[in-house]
Amino acid sequence: MPNYKAPVRDMRFLMNEVFDFESHYKSLPNGEDATPDMVEAIVGEMAKLCENTIGPLYQSGDEEGCTLKDGVVHTPKGFKEAYAEFQAGGWQGLSHPVEYGGQGLPMSLGLIKQEMMATANWSFSMYPGLSLGAMNTIQLHGSEEQKQEYLVPLTEGTWGGTMCLTEPQCGTDLGQVKTKAEPQKDGSYKISGTKIFISSGDHDMVENIVHIVLARLPDAPKGTKGISLFIVPKYLPGKIGEDNGVSVGSLEKKMGIKASATCVMNFDEATGFLIGPENKGLECMFTFMNTARLGTAMQGIAHAELSYQGALPYAKERKSMRALSGKKEPDAIADSLIHHGDVRRMLLKQKAIAEGGRAMLYFSAQYADNMISGILEDDMEKYEHWDSELGFFTPILKGFLTEKGLEVANDGMQVFGGHGYIKEHGMEQIVRDARISTLYEGTTGIQALDLLGRKVLLTTKGKCVRDFTKKLVDFGTKNLRDPKLRPFAWKLLKIAAEWNYLTTRIMLVAAKDRDMVSTASYDFLMYSGYAMMAYFWAIQAGVAKDKLENGGNEPAEFYKAKLATAEFYFERMLPSAKGHADAALKPTRSIMKLKAEDFSFDYE
Ligand SMILES: Cc1cc2nc3c(=O)[nH]c(=O)nc-3n(C[C@H](O)[C@H](O)[C@H](O)COP(=O)(O)OP(=O)(O)OC[C@H]3O[C@@H](n4cnc5c(N)ncnc54)[C@H](O)[C@@H]3O)c2cc1C
Repeated sequence: MPNYKAPVRDMRFLMNEVFDFESHYKSLPNGEDATPDMVEAIVGEMAKLCENTIGPLYQSGDEEGCTLKDGVVHTPKGFKEAYAEFQAGGWQGLSHPVEYGGQGLPMSLGLIKQEMMATANWSFSMYPGLSLGAMNTIQLHGSEEQKQEYLVPLTEGTWGGTMCLTEPQCGTDLGQVKTKAEPQKDGSYKISGTKIFISSGDHDMVENIVHIVLARLPDAPKGTKGISLFIVPKYLPGKIGEDNGVSVGSLEKKMGIKASATCVMNFDEATGFLIGPENKGLECMFTFMNTARLGTAMQGIAHAELSYQGALPYAKERKSMRALSGKKEPDAIADSLIHHGDVRRMLLKQKAIAEGGRAMLYFSAQYADNMISGILEDDMEKYEHWDSELGFFTPILKGFLTEKGLEVANDGMQVFGGHGYIKEHGMEQIVRDARISTLYEGTTGIQALDLLGRKVLLTTKGKCVRDFTKKLVDFGTKNLRDPKLRPFAWKLLKIAAEWNYLTTRIMLVAAKDRDMVSTASYDFLMYSGYAMMAYFWAIQAGVAKDKLENGGNEPAEFYKAKLATAEFYFERMLPSAKGHADAALKPTRSIMKLKAEDFSFDYE
C-alpha cells in the first residue's frame, strides 16, 4: 500500500524556482500574508496532516465504505476524527475572506493544500472539496444575510456543502432539470424533486449540510434559460435537528471512491432560498466552474503521484531476471524491476504526468489568483480577462490530466504484475478511484466540446491557441542555440506551428460540416494536452539546466532527474500528439456515415 509522502521538493521547485510565487503573491491584493515563511508553514503542516492522519485512512475507507443508517450517512472509521483535526486547523477557509471566517490567503495556496489532501485520500478530500463549491457560489452570488448565515459556518468547516445539479434524466444536459421551486409568501421557496449522484449529500462529520440546488420556478422558460439556483439547507439556520424536507433516498454503490458518500437526495417541499437572479442559475453555477475544474484536474495528478509512490519502491525491491545489458545487482538472485527498460518506461510516464501536470496546475493557479484579484478590487474587466485566460486552460487540464492520470495509475498497477490486481497492495484501488475523474465535473467529451467548440472556435476564433503558442515560440527562439535545450526548443517551435495549423484546418472544415466539431474534439483536446505539457516540461528543463550550472536550492540529482524526465516526455510521450492531430483532421465521414440502426443487427 503506498504510504503518501508529500512531494514537497517538487512543490518548492515549482513555487520558488520555476514560477516565482513570492513575486506573484506580492502583486496580489490578498498576497501580503503569503510570505515565503507562511507558504512553507502551510505546506509543512498540511503535509503532516496528510501523511499522518488523512493518508492512512485511504485503504480502510475503501474497504469499509459509507453506510446509510436511519437516514444518516456514516463515514468510515477515522474520517470524523480526521475531519475534526482538519476543521480545527482552519484549513477549510484558507483562501476565503477574513470577514466570513476565512484566512483570506490566495486561491493558489488553497489549491496546493487541496493537492496534498487529494493525493493522500481522494475520497476524504471530496467532503471539504464540495463545500468549497457551495462556498464559492454563496460568496459570489449570495446576499449579505445569506453570507452571514451560510458562508460563515461553511468557511469554518462546521457545516458542509454540496452541488445538486444532476437528475436521473440529465447530467450533461441540465436544460432538462425538473426539480421545482414554488415561491412562498415570506420570500422563501418550496423545493421538490430528486437529485442523483450527489457527492457528500449527507454525512456525519458536520452539524448541517448546505445544498446548492438547481430548480425551476413555475412558468420558467424551457431549457437552460429557465433554471434558478437555491440554497436548501438540511436544517434551517437556528433549527438544527428539525426536518426541512431534505432526505437521503439511498447511497449509490460504485466502482471506486467508496469512502465518498454519493447520495440520491430527495427534496420534499424543502424550504430554500433563491441565490442570484431568477432563471440565471446556470450562469451563477458556472461562475467558479474554472476553479472547480482545476480541482478535478488535480485528481489526475493525485492518482498519478500516489500510484508512482506505490510503484517506485516495488520496482526497486522486486527481483526478476537480469537486465539485458548485464547484471546490475550481481549479489542478488536477480536484478530489480527498475533495471528493465519496459518497467522504467511505465515509471517515467507516471513521473512525467505527475510532475508535468503539477506544473500545469500551479501555473493555472496563478491565473486563478489574478481572477480573484479582479473580484477583490471590484474590477470586473480584470476578473473577466483572467477568467477567460483560465477558461482556455481548464478543459485541457481537466480532460487531459484526468485521462492521463487514469492511464498512469493503470501503469502503476502493471508494474506490480499480478500483485497489482490483488487488493492488498492498494494499487487497484487507485485505478478504481481514478476512473470517475474523466466522468464527473463534465466528461472528457464535454471538456473537448467546450475547448474546441466554445473556447477555440466560437469565442476566440483560434486566438486562444495563437496566444498560448506564443509562449512556445518564445521558449523556442530563445533556446534554439543552447545545445542542452535545443531539442526542446526545436520541438516546441514545430508544435506551435502544428497546433495553429490544426486549429485553422478544423475551423475551415467545421464552417461547412458542423459534425467536425464533435468528431475532432477529443483528439484536439488530447493534442492540446500533450502540446501544453510539452511547454511546461521545457520550462522545467530550462530551470533545471540553469540550476545545474549556477546552483539551486535542490541537490544536483534532482535537477538531473528533471532534465531526464523532460527528455523522456519529449522523446517517448509527445509523439502521441501527432496521432491525435492526424485523427482530428480526418473528414467526419468515417464516424458519421454508419446509420444509427446499422450499428448492430443482433442486439435490439
Ligand atoms: C461518483 C459520482 C459523483 C458525482 N457527484 C456529483 C455531484 O456532487 N453533483 C452533481 O450534480 N452531479 C454529480 N455527479 C454527476 C456527474 O456530474 C454526471 O454523471 C456527469 O455530468 C455526466 O452526466 P450523465 O451521467 O447524465 O451522462 P450523460 O449526460 O447522459 O452523457 C453520457 C455520454 O454521452 C456524452 N455526451 C452527452 N452529450 C453529448 C454531446 N452533446 N456531445 C457529445 N457527447 C455527449 C458524454 O460525454 C458521455 O460520454 C456525480 C457522478 C458520479 C458518478
